[in-house]
Amino acid sequence: MRKELFQDTDDHTSLALHFGDDGSSKSKLKAGFSTRHNGVSKEPFASLNLGFHVPDHSLDVLTNRKILSNKLDTPLEHWVVAEQIHGNEIAHIRSADKGRGATEHDSAIPSKDGLYTDEKGIMLGALYADCVPLFFYSPSAERVGIAHAGWKGTTKDIAGEMIQRWQEDGIDPKDILTAIGPSIGSCCYEVDDRVIESVIQVAFDSEQFFTRNENDTYQLDLKAVNKHLFLKAGVPENNIFVSDYCTSCSNLFFSHRSENGKTGRMMGYIGLEEG
Ligand SMILES: [Zn+2]
Repeated sequence: MRKELFQDTDDHTSLALHFGDDGSSKSKLKAGFSTRHNGVSKEPFASLNLGFHVPDHSLDVLTNRKILSNKLDTPLEHWVVAEQIHGNEIAHIRSADKGRGATEHDSAIPSKDGLYTDEKGIMLGALYADCVPLFFYSPSAERVGIAHAGWKGTTKDIAGEMIQRWQEDGIDPKDILTAIGPSIGSCCYEVDDRVIESVIQVAFDSEQFFTRNENDTYQLDLKAVNKHLFLKAGVPENNIFVSDYCTSCSNLFFSHRSENGKTGRMMGYIGLEEG
């Protein structure tokens, strides 16, 4: 069996992402995805809810973020989090942005679903409950990025937008490593015609990404659509790593779908430290 890309850590607070030993970067990559465990929030946000934008107690969310930041040994003042709107807009993050959206929602980078930075000592974070986390890393350019891709962000091709932006800055897509993180799998993701029509518009041979149910709904594989979009943008298949975790099946995660929208948020994170 293939080894899961996101490795559980000793206390199950977060899963660590390793792209493999690239050898070309002197900086230390820190990347991963939090679970729903070992936080202080009460039901239905129990317990490691990291989203300020859901109706949980803000102080509990802040405590939860401190738990993750302590575990990763990265102070919250180094984190940058955006206000996500299911779009495909991307922000270039610089040192002056450090701390934005880290300890409250109001200072978050407005209306962006993708973030990237060239600077060390910045931890980029994005929030999820079933949507697809996309991670980007160029060892040669020492650039990292993260994106939030639900069905809307996916079909607006935020995956390709990020690759194209980096390409415009002189980074060859062959030098970009990408990871598709824990998110709702085709096993649990039933969608209607409206979603499928959007998929058909963005993906060639889109029939390979969904199956039709007897009740005229569909089971959609959003991870596979994002992988297709990475390939279409020029990222070689060997540079695309995919998690097997389904956030709806696994009890490690919050799931917007299986908990009828009343649930917490996990955080995907990526940053480079000085080596
Ligand atoms: Zn599932």
